[in-house]
Amino acid sequence: MSEVPRPSRERLTELFLMLTRVSSPSRSERAVADVVRSCLASCGVEIHEDHTGDVIGGDCGNLWCVVRGEGSGPHLALGAHLDTVPATDSLEPVLDEAGVFRNSRPAILGADDKAAIAAMLHATELLKASGEPFPSYELLFTVSEETGLVGVKHLAEDVLESPLAAVLDSSGPVGGVVVKAPSMVNLRATFRGRAAHAGVEPERGRSAVQAAAKAIASMHLGRLDRETSANVGVIHGGVATNVVPDLCEILGECRGHDEDRLAAVSAEMVDAVQRAAVEAGVDVDVELVHEFHAFALSARSPVVRLAKAAIVALGREPSMLTAGGGSDANVLNGRGLPTINLDTGMMRVHSPEEHLSLDQLEQLCLLVLHLIRLAPDHIPRAGSVVGGL
Ligand SMILES: [Zn+2]
Repeated sequence: MSEVPRPSRERLTELFLMLTRVSSPSRSERAVADVVRSCLASCGVEIHEDHTGDVIGGDCGNLWCVVRGEGSGPHLALGAHLDTVPATDSLEPVLDEAGVFRNSRPAILGADDKAAIAAMLHATELLKASGEPFPSYELLFTVSEETGLVGVKHLAEDVLESPLAAVLDSSGPVGGVVVKAPSMVNLRATFRGRAAHAGVEPERGRSAVQAAAKAIASMHLGRLDRETSANVGVIHGGVATNVVPDLCEILGECRGHDEDRLAAVSAEMVDAVQRAAVEAGVDVDVELVHEFHAFALSARSPVVRLAKAAIVALGREPSMLTAGGGSDANVLNGRGLPTINLDTGMMRVHSPEEHLSLDQLEQLCLLVLHLIRLAPDHIPRAGSVVGGL
């Protein structure tokens, strides 16, 4: 396979609109999974589904398949997620006169991550229809990515056979490659005080809200250094102004690229919570959950070289990026599968201004085809250090 087939802009438009018309918030991905399954079935590819849906209370599991080409392999796994953040209005995607996909209603478009799904499906249709030999590869479609990479965390470790992986789930013009992403720790603190009438006998009360406020006020939040940040994003507590509140919960996070620094920052947040509880005379339960781990792939890593070669083959300039958030790539890298996260052309994701140009979608499909074509030249040799982590 020295050339790649030419994507059809009409078919990409049809696929993308078909996918983005279907609502698929986290844990309700069945309808969009059915579109993926029937599209792959019509080009003779059998798809597998795991039991993640049952385990996490969703209606669909993770999907994956091997698209068999010539020779050995698969060499490369391509990944996208099926879910979107919840839409605040209906999904009525259109392609406007300027060649840009938008939702005509004030809500997300769902290009995150349906741009990737459309590109992966169309690339597979083209390769299967071409009659030309192509290298074997895998496709992975995860569920509940948006709620903390839940689907991929439940994916069995032995599902993917490929030595390299590319997740297509970063916003920005095609050509960007996320090679570094942070680790994230979530914090949940539940302050338990004592309720009392605020006017009649306030001295009997112990305010959980005041304890939470003291804790937050004493934390270092925001950007702590170039690679570390902390935030308290949610506070719940109290029932009425005339009741000393006996319950208050705060939710926060910290993220960073250095695990030791992150451990120190999260320990400081826990200290602030516990100190404030003692000062206010309330009890507190505090919980830290390590949501995902950082990764950093070196420029010499085979999967990074593969991405660069594929982007150059497109005639674009590759740019190596550091992400501020996590993706399925964090989990796959954490399992020892070297995984990049690629920019897909989607813009302003998770907002009503989310959009994607048809030109970018076409470029993304071509990028997928070049990645598949070039993957056999970049598979790590036995005994070499593949991760560069
Ligand atoms: Zn996404």
